[in-house]
Amino acid sequence: MKFNTKTIHGGQQHDVAYGSVMPPIYQTTTYAQSTPGNHKGYEYSRTHNPTRHALEQSFASLEDGNYGLAFGSGIAAIDAVLKLLKPGDEVISTNDLYGGTYRLFTKIYENFGIKFHFIGMRNIDNIESFISAKTKLIWVETPTNPMMNIIDIKAVSDVSKKHNLLLAVDNTFATPYLQQPLNLGADIVMHSATKYLGGHSDVVMGGLVVRDKSLADRLYFIQNASGAICGPQDAFLVLRGIKTLHVRMQRHCENGRAVAEFLQSHSKIKNVYWPGFESHPNHEIAKSQMKDFGGMVSFTTKESNFDEAIKIVENLKIFTLAESLGGVESLAGHPASMTHASIPKDEREKTGVVDSLIRLSVGIEDKADLIADLKQAIG
Ligand SMILES: *Cc1c(COP(=O)(O)O)cnc(C)c1O
Repeated sequence: MKFNTKTIHGGQQHDVAYGSVMPPIYQTTTYAQSTPGNHKGYEYSRTHNPTRHALEQSFASLEDGNYGLAFGSGIAAIDAVLKLLKPGDEVISTNDLYGGTYRLFTKIYENFGIKFHFIGMRNIDNIESFISAKTKLIWVETPTNPMMNIIDIKAVSDVSKKHNLLLAVDNTFATPYLQQPLNLGADIVMHSATKYLGGHSDVVMGGLVVRDKSLADRLYFIQNASGAICGPQDAFLVLRGIKTLHVRMQRHCENGRAVAEFLQSHSKIKNVYWPGFESHPNHEIAKSQMKDFGGMVSFTTKESNFDEAIKIVENLKIFTLAESLGGVESLAGHPASMTHASIPKDEREKTGVVDSLIRLSVGIEDKADLIADLKQAIG
């Protein structure tokens, strides 16, 4: 089955009771048993729920994996991966990463004796020098948030395989429409389904997909034992969102390109971060591991100060000033004061998250309206 068919049918079956085309929202905590232990595969909804199961099958299908898991948020999905580790273990992570992931790693898991090395992964050789006998996991986000750096997943997976480490890839920005990390050698794919998979800015949800049965079993155990599951109503909404993922992504990419090119040509704009430019330092890797370049675009103004950036985001009318990304509507954010405020200033500036940086999640509106809006806001 090809990808566009998978978004609609992947892992899905019509409901056995009445043939409903969409899975019913099984809003139930428990399931009747005829004798103790004799049931139809479902006992208690923290452990299993048919609506959630349908979504988990869809996740697995989209990422070309064997097992999918849905969680109450993207962060809850990351948290489940971290629970595979023990005190003393070490993680090598990209240094340019979602602020909430950085906060979880440093403010929660460092307290439990896990050590993190935050490093630039544009140069793969850099990774090996941080590997020791204690290293267990490599954490990759690509494209990175918000600097749109590209990490060569295949090259990182060669390193992780050589040293027998787990490789997890946060695939939130690219979505499986653009990039499928398991096919490039990753062990775990993670999603904030809050973003493109849900796609309509109305659900907070996370997901994981793996191929290996024993890894899946450990993660299912954690999912049930720690309990950070999503509800059936939310599972239904994300399944509905996924059915148009391919058409939405196509438009996100088209509009993202138009916006990036407009900004690049504007006299008041300094840098535009978008992997589709030939001048992007890892354009060739982006071209080889992604189908297109997505709808996320970041930029800085020549007038490089905090106030100038704030003025632009306040002036925007169609782009909404808001956190988050990946919905049908265009959003603008100021990472230094919003999504990345939890990362210390000197730490974030090292990766390029300066005060004048603005991040756009380009939606699927008419691109002429989006460009006109940016034009009037930048002045
Ligand atoms: C939003 C986001 C997360 C966290 O997901 P939530 O659903 O907000 O918990 C993780 N990684 C990336 C890249 C994100 O954009």
